[in-house]
Amino acid sequence: MEVIQVAQYDSDLSDEVVEENNDLNRNKKVKKKKRSKYWINKATFDNAEEAEASIENIWSKQYTNYTEHGRRVYYRCNKAKLRGPQCSASIHLLYHADSDQVTVYKTEGEHDHHDEKVRGIDENVKKCIEELYNDGDLEQWCEGNVEVPIDENKAFVVSYKILYDNEEYEDDEDIEEDGNKFRIFISSVRLLNIASMSLHLHADATYKLIWQGFPVLIVGTTDFNKAFHPFGLAVSSNEKTKDFEFIFNSIQVGMEKINKDLLYPTALISDAADAIKNGFTNIFSSSYNQIMCWAHMKRKINNRVCQIDDKHIAKEIIEDVEML
Ligand SMILES: [Zn+2]
Repeated sequence: MEVIQVAQYDSDLSDEVVEENNDLNRNKKVKKKKRSKYWINKATFDNAEEAEASIENIWSKQYTNYTEHGRRVYYRCNKAKLRGPQCSASIHLLYHADSDQVTVYKTEGEHDHHDEKVRGIDENVKKCIEELYNDGDLEQWCEGNVEVPIDENKAFVVSYKILYDNEEYEDDEDIEEDGNKFRIFISSVRLLNIASMSLHLHADATYKLIWQGFPVLIVGTTDFNKAFHPFGLAVSSNEKTKDFEFIFNSIQVGMEKINKDLLYPTALISDAADAIKNGFTNIFSSSYNQIMCWAHMKRKINNRVCQIDDKHIAKEIIEDVEML
């Protein structure tokens, strides 16, 4: 294995921003902290397409350097926040100046990005996502974890659906997209038991919790103390109607798996996205009360109200809303 050492700019800025900065500081001497990284030659591809296709989606383009050997495009681990301490793991692609070949280099350092902690999510479920991430083969992992565990706190895959590129599927609304699609719902017996007693559902897609760049969709309920109880979470390659349909249906599958009656929720609390509403109606097909998420609504109203010129009227409207 060939190991080369190249100086790397310690920068968390994207390509364009770096160039912009250079322009602004054209007359100043920009001093940048340099850091050495050991790069390991992972593979060389005959052309750029093949090389780029080999890059997992945990990598995001960061910046480009032009060197005598060719263009080097650096990628950062996107499991670390863009603004903040970066993960030690990174890769770069060398587009050889003298041929079509492209070499992929990887840092010697392992991933050390800080995993985001999200309040309310079961530790087991979190561990589950990590395992999913570390394990390359998603489908195999799902298959191996569908058994309902005896331990009520152990996470398991309630249901999953993996659609491959070449497969035909009925998701007309997503047809323009390419690439594989998947949906996985993970929960535990304890969380499903909580679900079985719930009459109202909360659903939202959160981008605070991301697995391989895909949204994590969370469903749950709130108790009278306003504490949120998640039923489990879904990782999905999208957040459209079909994805929420999948989650709501997964809850019903979960009810069957723990021998409980199917759920007939009477209320849905969400940010009123059509995808969530339609998914809910298609699965539970019951008449329900659409309850808008209060926090989402207030944010929206504040956005509108601040466009009103008369500050007195604006203030009155906000006060009226809060009286509701
Ligand atoms: Zn990382």
